Amino acid sequence: IVTIAGLHKRFGDNEVLRGIDLEIAEGEVVCLIGPSGSGKSTLLRCVNLLETPTAGTITAAGHDMTGPDADLDAARRDIGMVFQHFNLFSHLSILDNLVVPQRRVRKTPKDEAVAEARRLLAEVGIEGKERARPAQLSGGQQQRVAIARALAMKPRLMLFDEPTSALDPELVGEVLSVMKGLAAEGMTMLVVTHEMAFAREVADRVLFLDGGVIVEQGAPAEVLTDPKTERARTFLHRVL
Ligand code: ATP
Ligand code: MG
Repeated sequence: IVTIAGLHKRFGDNEVLRGIDLEIAEGEVVCLIGPSGSGKSTLLRCVNLLETPTAGTITAAGHDMTGPDADLDAARRDIGMVFQHFNLFSHLSILDNLVVPQRRVRKTPKDEAVAEARRLLAEVGIEGKERARPAQLSGGQQQRVAIARALAMKPRLMLFDEPTSALDPELVGEVLSVMKGLAAEGMTMLVVTHEMAFAREVADRVLFLDGGVIVEQGAPAEVLTDPKTERARTFLHRVL
C-alpha cells in the first residue's frame, strides 16, 4: 500500500533524507524510531506530500504521489495524519470537527456525517462532549478526537507523528490504546514514536532511522532487543 524508492529530501544544503526505500503492506503496522533530527517527521510528511521530495518516487494508498498527474486532494482523503499537537479546529465543536470535513471533503450528507461522527467518537471513548470546544478537553481527549477526525475520512493508511509526546504521562495510555484498537482492526499504520513498549507490542516492523537513512529494520524483538548496529544500540540505551 506504500512504496517508496530512492527518496531524497534536502532543505537548502541540509540533506535530511538520503535514499529511503520502503514498502509497507496492507494492514502492516510500522514504527519509525530514531534520534531527533534523523528525518522521521520529514519522511512521514513526504508520504502525503506535505513536503516535496527532492528525488525519488512514492506511491501511497493507490496514489502515485510523485507522478505528474498526482491528485493530492484525493490522495490526502485516503491518507490520514495525526500530529503531535492535535491541530483540531478550535472554533468548531467536537462534533463539527468530525462533521465538517466529511461534508466538505467527502460530500457526505449531513445526517450520515453526524451519525458517523457519533459512531467514531464513541469508538475512541469520547462521550458527552459533542458540543464542547477542543480547548475544554484534556490533551488525551483532544488527540483521540483528532484520530476520530482522521478516521472519518475513511483513510486506507494512517500516519502518526509522535501522537503522544505532547501529552502528560497519565494521558498517554488512552491514546495508545485507541491506536492499538485501530491496528487490531487491520488499519495500515506508519507511526513515529518514542513509545518503545507500544512498538514492541503493536508493530509488525520497526525501522531505525539515523542521518536520513534506514540503518536497521526488522521485527520489534530483533531491532529493539538485539540491534545489530552500534548506532541503534546507543540510541536504544538512551531511550529505554
Ligand atoms: P524529532 O525527533 O526532533 O521530531 P525528526 O527525526 O522528526 O526529529 P525532522 O523533523 O524530520 O527530524 O528534521 C530533520 C532535519 O530536517 C532537521 O535538521 C531539521 O532542522 C530539518 N528540517 C525539517 N523541516 C525543515 C524545514 N521545513 N525547513 C528546513 N529544515 C527543515
Ligand atoms: Mg519529528
